[in-house]
Amino acid sequence: MRAVGFIGLGNMGGPMCGHLVRAGFDVCAYDIDATAHARARDVGARAAGSAAECARDVEALITMLPGPAQVEQVWLGDGGVMDALPPGSLGVDMSTSSRAVGELLLDAARRRGIELLDAPVAGQSIGAQAGTLAIYAGGSDSAFERGRPLFEAVGDPERILHVGGHGAGYTVKLLLNLTWFIQAVATGEVLTVGVRAGVQLGKLYEALVRSPANSNFLERDVRMVLDDGAYDEAFPMRLVTKDLGLAVELARDVGMPVELTALVEQIHRRARVLYGDDAGEISAIRLYEDLAGVELRLTK
Ligand code: NAD
Repeated sequence: MRAVGFIGLGNMGGPMCGHLVRAGFDVCAYDIDATAHARARDVGARAAGSAAECARDVEALITMLPGPAQVEQVWLGDGGVMDALPPGSLGVDMSTSSRAVGELLLDAARRRGIELLDAPVAGQSIGAQAGTLAIYAGGSDSAFERGRPLFEAVGDPERILHVGGHGAGYTVKLLLNLTWFIQAVATGEVLTVGVRAGVQLGKLYEALVRSPANSNFLERDVRMVLDDGAYDEAFPMRLVTKDLGLAVELARDVGMPVELTALVEQIHRRARVLYGDDAGEISAIRLYEDLAGVELRLTK
């Protein structure tokens, strides 16, 4: 496989596109945003004038878009890529999107003889820049094997996982994000209560990390708040609340009551209203810092 189309050159897609070029793929790229689009040329991709132009004559097309609305529009809307892709080609949506829109894509793909994968990623923009993303692919075995060289160009080979049939990739990705965002709220609560109770933050933090309650979130991710007062603007609250909304929708679709998920979603929505759509993904912890009147910093 050589000719690849790539649509959506934001925080994640921009660097992913660069890795595909460096891996030797002939990449044709498109983004509606002119600044993001210019980045395609910077990384050595050919810049297309439209999404459909990107899809003609390619063997595979990747989309890395904000969410379900944009995925549906780019694939199935006016000038959509589904009609432009050659029969027999491979379509891969790597956005964090919904199974419902995935099913619409799948129906259309079957009619056109296009193989489809949902393959969302984890690893933050740092992972996109480093080419070490985790990838959760849903679709047939044959489509997954066709997609593997693309995934190896942008991901960590140890964490390129085929998690099931169509929609399983979206499902796994939404559930792992949900787990992470539940931990963000739990960590915000625990650390602020501890500090208000008079325990030194460093002592409390060390005790938690050395306890059975330790997690990657505690050991690694929350350190950006504790060390630098940073909340990770590369994954903004508008995308956080999009993902949590999709997780609630997923639970509803499968008939599961998820009281905790619903509450956690609302807490992150509150943080988005207070700190803005572009505030960083760990802003829920800032919510607790503001409520408690403390800054959670290990240096203090
Ligand atoms: P982003 O907002 O930075 O980038 C999305 C890009 O899509 C933008 O450049 C935008 O202009 C473009 N776009 C929107 N509509 C379009 C259209 N109709 N046609 C062409 N281009 C269009 O978002 P991101 O951070 O790169 O995230 C992309 C996806 O990856 C999202 O689904 C997100 O949830 C997921 N994700 C993000 C992170 C992260 O840390 N940022 C981590 C894992 C997964």
